[in-house]
Amino acid sequence: MSERPAPERRADLLELYRELSPDWVCPLKESRTNVVFGSGNADAELMFVGEAPGANEDREGKPFVGNAGRLLDKLLVEIGLERGDTFIANVLKCRPPGNRDPQPHEIEECTPHLMRQVELIEPTVVCTLGNFALKLLSGSPQGITKVHGRPQAHEIGGRSVVLYPLFHPSAALRATAVLELLRADFARLPGLLAAQAPAAGGAQEGSGSVTGGGQLGFFG
Ligand code: URA
Repeated sequence: MSERPAPERRADLLELYRELSPDWVCPLKESRTNVVFGSGNADAELMFVGEAPGANEDREGKPFVGNAGRLLDKLLVEIGLERGDTFIANVLKCRPPGNRDPQPHEIEECTPHLMRQVELIEPTVVCTLGNFALKLLSGSPQGITKVHGRPQAHEIGGRSVVLYPLFHPSAALRATAVLELLRADFARLPGLLAAQAPAAGGAQEGSGSVTGGGQLGFFG
């Protein structure tokens, strides 16, 4: 299903990054410090989509750099992956003041850029973290408690992907029961990725293992 060579897609991703950083005019321009474009492997099979940058991310310009990010890193290591194997983005690229919920008009403004990222990175599995990403990308009002850990087939950014709903790591930091559910859902990720791999007759043809882009493909 990969139609474009990785270097071309990477170049377009870089162009999108330059379009949005640092002067992008969006509803949150006045209150943000940095646009948090997303970071990771520009050719990743696995992509995570969170809600919106918090204070740490706003300051550093990178996604998931606080406590929730540290938990995400730990859960990845537990399944034999690391952040650099994945690409991490958010529904919103700018921090809502006081960490309030994203507003519908902000989500609407940001969504085309997230879709373009999916189109260019060409992940096979997209993990939503929490309800905002889940509802946006599934197009369904069903919440995370009902559907976590159940892969769904969706078209995102013009591509057929497996959407895999996960609890937000921040929710897991607040409740041990949620952490255990999140850990159990993470444990199924390697199998999900393997099922999408080319050798298994899955989605893609040609190049591109999870780490295929290596440092060349690292973004952000
Ligand atoms: N929470 C999110 O949803 N995204 C981040 O980047 C950090 C915390």
